[in-house]
Amino acid sequence: MIVMNPLLNPKIMFPFLKNYILDSGRLISSTPKKIQKYKDKALRHMVKFAYNVPLYHDRYKEAGVHPSDIHGIKDLRKLPMITKDDIRQNFPDKIVPTNFNKNNGHVICTGGTTGKPVCLYTNFLTIGKGLSTTIRELKLLKINPKKTRSVHIGNFNQYRIDLVARDHFYKHLKLFYSDKNILNIDVNTPILEMIENLEKFNPDIIISYPAIFQHLAFFRRKGKGKNIKPKTCWTGGAMLDDYTRKYVEEAFGTRLLNIYPSVEACGDIAFECLKGKWHVNDDFYHLEAMDENGEILDPGKRGHLVITRLWGYATPIIRYTGMDDWVKLLYDVKCDCGICSTVIKNGVEGRMRANIVLPSGKVFPPGAFCFIEPVVSKYKTFKIKQYQVVQKKIDEIDVLLVIDDDLRNVGPSVETIMKEVEAIYQQKSGPDVKITVKEVKEIKPEKGSSKPPPIVVSHIKIDEGYKVLENA
Ligand SMILES: [Zn+2]
Repeated sequence: MIVMNPLLNPKIMFPFLKNYILDSGRLISSTPKKIQKYKDKALRHMVKFAYNVPLYHDRYKEAGVHPSDIHGIKDLRKLPMITKDDIRQNFPDKIVPTNFNKNNGHVICTGGTTGKPVCLYTNFLTIGKGLSTTIRELKLLKINPKKTRSVHIGNFNQYRIDLVARDHFYKHLKLFYSDKNILNIDVNTPILEMIENLEKFNPDIIISYPAIFQHLAFFRRKGKGKNIKPKTCWTGGAMLDDYTRKYVEEAFGTRLLNIYPSVEACGDIAFECLKGKWHVNDDFYHLEAMDENGEILDPGKRGHLVITRLWGYATPIIRYTGMDDWVKLLYDVKCDCGICSTVIKNGVEGRMRANIVLPSGKVFPPGAFCFIEPVVSKYKTFKIKQYQVVQKKIDEIDVLLVIDDDLRNVGPSVETIMKEVEAIYQQKSGPDVKITVKEVKEIKPEKGSSKPPPIVVSHIKIDEGYKVLENA
């Protein structure tokens, strides 16, 4: 089969080059007012496009709303929301425009480790534009994208966006990227083999899950992989707690920054700057936060993310609720790094289903239930190699600690650390909850998941949690 390089097609080449240069700079050089105008126009365009997609067309008809009613972001609330199930049930024919040629599109799917995956269509231009979010992030770090060697330690299967991008995009792009500069390593590769590959490849950027960085940092502290000298480490796909961040940053002598990519977004929704703020790529996405009744919340209130992608063909993403993440949004925040944008306050707080719900009715998103860092900082120790917080029952929480044997007898005793950890969890959870701090040899991944184990796990069923909330 002959595959044409889509870049040889001038219809694709010119918009692509224009995008590549303009898109990556826009957020940095524009004022919020200009971005707003750009977003209004982009939304109008997307809603018109979506009106030819049966799923959206039918929903908009039912809701009695027409593209001509949407003048800009302020009218977004007139549009009905779209769920994960809507995309699943209407796949493949009703999630793309009626005249869409599927041979020119690619199917990409979410990981689906805890439930059915969501699959949607994308195409060459969409992937290309999504990549300019990464280029923007590199530029902000003063890293030249053309010369950057990056390693991605992730989860690769046939329909993962990383692979689709590699097979259908990068190879046409010798102009900007070289295959030689990108290495994908499967997350299940034995860690020492991973370290060997990393040393050989000598990356400027490493992208992976927090738990993988934690393991790499552990071996680095033991003298392995001394020649791995990334300029920056990027993490996403799981919550990064303060302890892991410190542990990794100190081991590698570089920053570990969050990025917030998703398959549906087809790019990075947000990125953490060197000043620690999570900037939303405002010209690419519009974010809203809603409560459990679907009401849109005021800025700064914690809610469920609703995302609108302001670009891209094939399957549009407009007011999509399927991301399952908690966010607090603040708009037009001026940051010391020079960017003024929407900000996700304190970052994404993790999956809703991992929430810790306590007998008192108090709810902690997983990101707000990590209290190891203050204890170890107080004693200036890195003797905890890994940890996990497991809510077994509504009133029973285990904190599992893996101790670094080489540091076991250095500094404060393990018993002291365990007591302090117990005390802080007891204080945060209240007297009705039994806290048990245990030392364990290792922490295993969740059954059926190829991702590293999460830091916070809850075995409380969602309806059980809601019952507590109703009675509280
Ligand atoms: Zn900033």
